[in-house]
Amino acid sequence: MSLHRQSERPSSIACDIVVVGDGMLGLAIALACRDRAADARVVVVGPPSRPGAASPAAAAMLTAFAEVEPGTLRHAGRRAKFDLARRSVPRWPAWIAAFADRAGVPTPALTSGTVVTATDPAIDGPVLAAIAAAAEEHGVPFDSLELRDVPGLRPRRTPPEAPAIRIPGEGAVDPIQVLDVLDRAAAAAGIERVAGRAIDLDEQVVAIDDGTRIRSPQVILAAGAATSTLLDTHPRLRDRLPRIRFGTGVGIRATTPPDVVVPNEVVRTPNRRDGHGVYFAPHGHGRFYIGATCEISDEPVETPRIAALRRILDAAMDDLSQELGRATCQPVLGHRPTTDDGLPLLGRATDSIWIASGTHRDGFVSAPEIADRLASDLLTGTTTLPVELRPDRMPFPIGRGPDA
Ligand SMILES: Cc1cc2nc3c(=O)[nH]c(=O)nc-3n(C[C@H](O)[C@H](O)[C@H](O)COP(=O)(O)OP(=O)(O)OC[C@H]3O[C@@H](n4cnc5c(N)ncnc54)[C@H](O)[C@@H]3O)c2cc1C
Repeated sequence: MSLHRQSERPSSIACDIVVVGDGMLGLAIALACRDRAADARVVVVGPPSRPGAASPAAAAMLTAFAEVEPGTLRHAGRRAKFDLARRSVPRWPAWIAAFADRAGVPTPALTSGTVVTATDPAIDGPVLAAIAAAAEEHGVPFDSLELRDVPGLRPRRTPPEAPAIRIPGEGAVDPIQVLDVLDRAAAAAGIERVAGRAIDLDEQVVAIDDGTRIRSPQVILAAGAATSTLLDTHPRLRDRLPRIRFGTGVGIRATTPPDVVVPNEVVRTPNRRDGHGVYFAPHGHGRFYIGATCEISDEPVETPRIAALRRILDAAMDDLSQELGRATCQPVLGHRPTTDDGLPLLGRATDSIWIASGTHRDGFVSAPEIADRLASDLLTGTTTLPVELRPDRMPFPIGRGPDA
């Protein structure tokens, strides 16, 4: 990997494309640009430890239909966002295998199967019905079942006859393994890395915190929840675009002891507006993830609160399995890039600046489609990113949308 060491870094770099942000989207977009412009000098900027990033803290559920809520498909923006995930899900096995191949490392294992269960039928029932209707509309296979039919579950509170839907084609992956594959694939593809933070932005120029200036005709901002902080430094873009805030999410990574049986597929409640859902995502080799909280603020939150961990554990043991409490664990925290209307900002913002952020809870799964479309639009002048998700759209607050 061609990381510049601080002492070796030139004070000025000229390249063809600079990507600010080294998370899932930044790497996927840089690789997609490289595939379409083999001779272009592509540079990715970001602190290699990725402090506070969403991608390494994600459950990395590769789900689209399991995320559907009543009204998702009736609203043009939400439907466009859903479509990016829906089209990405079946692409994942070949997409990540191709990068692993180029990186010369094994392909991360993808677990298949997602069970969505109505642990509180009054709240969750209509959402389950919306998921089933969306799957039917798109011809996606699913089964109806009861919680007792899912191997490895032993909830403390939810009755065994709670209704559920299984979507065999949706699953999960270990995000750390995916980032490792993309880091290595980027190095193998000759994508250069600058290990720093962008602190100032203007047309065709990005200033890095060590004094380096990167000049590039195309600047792609994929700095996750920090994207608006950087946009604030641009002479014309401050307060002109929907704001991306910090959606702090806390989750728990865990490992099961050999005698504990847990499900081998994703098991989750549907999305709930009160944020009190819970999910379990297997990451292979006895490891799993349970999550997650979401607290939205204008500044990042650095460390998880004990109350957040308690909420996740209680919900997981009440609704999924008491056995989960016997695992060893480590809390994780990341900042979901979150807009007020819940929709991402994807596309061109000025002559030289493009934005890929605001993906909130599904930027991981949607990365293949977002990366390919953004690279295509930038390099070939097509318009494949949805117009409803353009950075300069007018936002509407969540809860006041047409179908809320
Ligand atoms: C708890 C949790 C669970 C989630 N679960 C899922 C899930 O199951 N499925 C799913 O699809 N999505 C999930 N998500 C959402 C998903 O993680 C995000 O949508 C996605 O990872 C966003 O990727 P990104 O590259 O835009 O942002 P990030 O991953 O945040 O990456 C941004 C990068 O930019 C860097 N950066 C920041 N500021 C600067 C700067 N000034 N200069 C240079 N670099 C900078 C950061 O260091 C970081 O590495 C989850 C998120 C969280 C927090």
